Amino acid sequence: MSKKAAVDLDWNNLGFSYIKTDERYISHWKDGVWDKGTLTEDNQVTISEGSTVIHYGQSCFEGLKAYRTKSGEVQLFRPEENAKRLQRSCRRLLMPEVSEEQFLSAVKQVVIANERWIPPYGTGGTLYLRPYVMGVGDNIGVAPAQEYIFGVFAIPVGAYFKGGLAPTSFIISEYDRAASHGTGGVKVGGNYASSLLPGKEAKQRSFSDCIYLDPATHTKIEEVGAANFFAITKDGRFVTPDSPSILPSITKYSLLYLAEHHLGMPVSQEDIYINQLDQYAEAGACGTAAVISPIAGIQNGEDYHVFYSETEVGPVTRRLYDLLTGIQFGDEEAPTGWITKVL
Ligand SMILES: *Cc1c(COP(=O)(O)O)cnc(C)c1O
Repeated sequence: MSKKAAVDLDWNNLGFSYIKTDERYISHWKDGVWDKGTLTEDNQVTISEGSTVIHYGQSCFEGLKAYRTKSGEVQLFRPEENAKRLQRSCRRLLMPEVSEEQFLSAVKQVVIANERWIPPYGTGGTLYLRPYVMGVGDNIGVAPAQEYIFGVFAIPVGAYFKGGLAPTSFIISEYDRAASHGTGGVKVGGNYASSLLPGKEAKQRSFSDCIYLDPATHTKIEEVGAANFFAITKDGRFVTPDSPSILPSITKYSLLYLAEHHLGMPVSQEDIYINQLDQYAEAGACGTAAVISPIAGIQNGEDYHVFYSETEVGPVTRRLYDLLTGIQFGDEEAPTGWITKVL
């Protein structure tokens, strides 16, 4: 298929780092329209020093993966949901929306053009796709840009956990990730610049990342680093917090559906109080990059709360992980509309 030779990568030991793959998609918006976009080998983007992305953070992004199945096909998991979320992010920052059609076409073109970089089935690796939109052009005042770039690039990434699903620990942050009525619910660049310091402080204390509480009262769990939080109650319900400042994770909504319809569990989006963690048998973080990451324990001031075990993944978290990844890699039948075949 590919004109180029196979790439020589250690597929079983890929991390999550930038690799320059063959082609990326780029489209420009000017005078009210996106151009039709093109693939390019050039991974450098040259922009004006007046670009709003540089000064005012007028930028948003997405993250999704292409999966190689056992029979060698290549598929995407719910990419329309990423397209819709990118549109919501664009609207919030007064940037022009990318149509669902253009988004899907760009993602598919990038997957096909980088076919030789898609990790083989069985390695746990995937091709991670990073769409983004940013304000560019010659600007200076605090106002929306007059020109925009929509790009999509791809990198092969490894399984998040090499030695199986290993629980890790998190620490409650004193910082807020997002304001109550701010931009926490959209995937915009500024949210992540401000998370770097809290994340660094957590890692310096040997935690995987920090957990953010609700900004208004600091009593309820909102996010786990750049992933959503979920828990299994001692009476067998799947619960995840409900708040407008949480980023609506596609993985989270998928788990809500699978827990209810495939595992027959009661599910709910409800408040999860940091002083009531005894109610939960298991807890985890979820997102495209981390998939499902079991939470061993949470440090809250002087208290350290352990969920299921510090070393073993809990049984419900394990079943959800197997079901979700089984669907993503094509081993399990997917709910209608969840899978888009590319190759
Ligand atoms: C992207 C992201 C998630 C995960 O969303 P998915 O759609 O599941 O990948 C969760 N929280 C934050 C803050 C994010 O940026």
